[in-house]
Amino acid sequence: MLFMSRCTAFCFLAVAMTSCATAAVIVNSALPITKVVRVRLIRAAEDNGTNVANAFGSGSTKAYIEDQIDRIWAQAGIDIEFDTETPIYNSAFALRGNNGSGTRPQSDFNLIRNGAAAAGLTSTNANTLNMIMVDVVPGFAPLGNLSSAGLASLGGNGITGYAGDTLLTYNNGRDVIASVMAHEIGHNLGLQHTANSLANLMSPGGSTEQLSSSQIATALSSRFVFNLPPPLPGDYNGDNLVGVADYTVWRDGLGTPAEIGSYDEWASNYGDVRSTAVPEPAACALACVMALVGISRQSRAGIRRHPAAADAVG
Ligand SMILES: [Zn+2]
Repeated sequence: MLFMSRCTAFCFLAVAMTSCATAAVIVNSALPITKVVRVRLIRAAEDNGTNVANAFGSGSTKAYIEDQIDRIWAQAGIDIEFDTETPIYNSAFALRGNNGSGTRPQSDFNLIRNGAAAAGLTSTNANTLNMIMVDVVPGFAPLGNLSSAGLASLGGNGITGYAGDTLLTYNNGRDVIASVMAHEIGHNLGLQHTANSLANLMSPGGSTEQLSSSQIATALSSRFVFNLPPPLPGDYNGDNLVGVADYTVWRDGLGTPAEIGSYDEWASNYGDVRSTAVPEPAACALACVMALVGISRQSRAGIRRHPAAADAVG
C-alpha cells in the first residue's frame, strides 16, 4: 500500500525538478531557548523482549534525529529534552496489536498507553510526554521500512510512533522521522492540523516544518512546557555544580575564543548546586486525580486518527 504523505507529496514535486534532496527539515529562525519539554521514549517489544521497535537508532543517528527535533521546536524557543532512559515495554500487543495486516483500531492507543503506565514504564513525572514506539501505530495498517507514522493525544500526554528501518539509514530518512515525531509533539502541546499542503509542521501534506506565531503561542501555553532554569553562575561545564572542574574550564579558556566567566565569579559561587528537580504534580493526590481525569477526558476527545495523508510518511 502506498501512503501519500507529508513528505511524499513534497518529494514528488522535488523529484520532478531535480531530486529529493530538498526534503530536509525546513524551519524558521530559532528563538532564544528559554523553555523545555521533556519526552520519554519507550520501545515496545515482543512479550519475550525480542524484536524491539525502532526509536531513533543509536549514536550519531539518534543525535541527528534529536537535533532535528530540537531545530524544529527551537522556532518556539523550546528545547526538547529526551530522558536518558529508554525503557523496553515487553508487550506483543503494544508492539503490533491483534489485527494482522489490517488497520489497527485507534482505540488501541489508550490500551498501549495504559499498559505502559501499568508496567511502570511511563515517566513518574506527569508532565513528561511519553512517546511509545511500536511496529504498528493505532489507526494505521502495517507500514513499510521507508515509512514513519504517529498518533498523538491532542493536548494530552501520549504519542505512539513508528520509524521504519530504512529511514534510519540516511539523513533525509532521519529527517522524516524527526518531522513526524515533532508533529506529534505539537499535537500533545495542543496544536491541531492546519489546512492541507501548507508550509507548516502541522499541515497534512505539508512541505516544511515551520510554525506560525499563533501556533508558537499555543504551544507555549501548554502545561507540558516549562521554563529552563537560568544558568548557575560559575558552572562552566553545565553539570549543575560549581566545583574544581569548572575552574579547569575557566583556566583552559583564558586567552582563547572559549574564554568564559571569571575567577571571581567561580570563587564566589564555589560549591553551589542547582537542583534539577522538575515540577511533580503527583505529589498532591488531589491535583493528581484531577490531572488524570483531565487526561482521560482529553484523550477521548482529542486523539486524532490522522488520515494517511497526514502522518504516514513514505
Ligand atoms: Zn497530525
